Amino acid sequence: MCRHLAYLGPPVNLRALLYDPPHSLVRQSWQPRDMRGGGTVNADGFGVGWYPGESDPVCYRRARPIWGDRTLPTLAEVTTAGAVLAAVRSATVGMAVQECAAAPFAEGRWLFSHNGLVRGWPDSVVSLAAALPTRDLLTLDAPTDSALLWALLRHRLRAGADPAEAVAATVVEVAQAAPGSRLNLLVTDGRTVVGTAVGHALSVRATPGAVMLASEPCDDDPAWRPVPDGQLVVATPTVTRARALWRA
Ligand code: GLN
Repeated sequence: MCRHLAYLGPPVNLRALLYDPPHSLVRQSWQPRDMRGGGTVNADGFGVGWYPGESDPVCYRRARPIWGDRTLPTLAEVTTAGAVLAAVRSATVGMAVQECAAAPFAEGRWLFSHNGLVRGWPDSVVSLAAALPTRDLLTLDAPTDSALLWALLRHRLRAGADPAEAVAATVVEVAQAAPGSRLNLLVTDGRTVVGTAVGHALSVRATPGAVMLASEPCDDDPAWRPVPDGQLVVATPTVTRARALWRA
């Protein structure tokens, strides 16, 4: 299953964030530690989204393995940002391999990533999709479960919902419609990040003034904490909170 990360904090060089750590996201693309039966490598694309200063985010996405991309190393070398969302993709069987299917999915301030799969796709979520505006379905980023999850979440964000509430409501409705789905989501507006652990690994590292959420810790910093399954994390560079997605 895909691997993803989000970082908020003091500006960091993208090469230092994505390539340099001993278990960096780039290394996780070809040697992930915890795929939980969902593929072996993350070779079906990648994406990096970052916020240049106060501007809306910029994304660089490609439908090829991150390890073979000849542009990203130099792009990362010259880019520094205080908010980043990046992902490497292992396409679920039957899903299209194309640039638009690689996270981050973006609109305005928002960047989104999904690690996992929707069980019973697409039949299990037909009724949820049918409740979206037709225009959203006609303009879906890609014919994939992740793109539909983004459309469902984005619909709530556009309506002004609190991001943590929007993520929780989206995960709960999809989990009810498609039991057994794996729904690790990450969404950020560059100031706050919301992440879920539902069926896949997620860890959080909160250090003074910075926070990172990642599928797998990228180094052996003792500050990394695993997020228990069924939890939602909301974090800014200074405050990290977690809560259960489902009531007992
Ligand atoms: N199901 C999603 C896709 O195919 C995400 C896959 C994953 O997490 N490996 O893009």
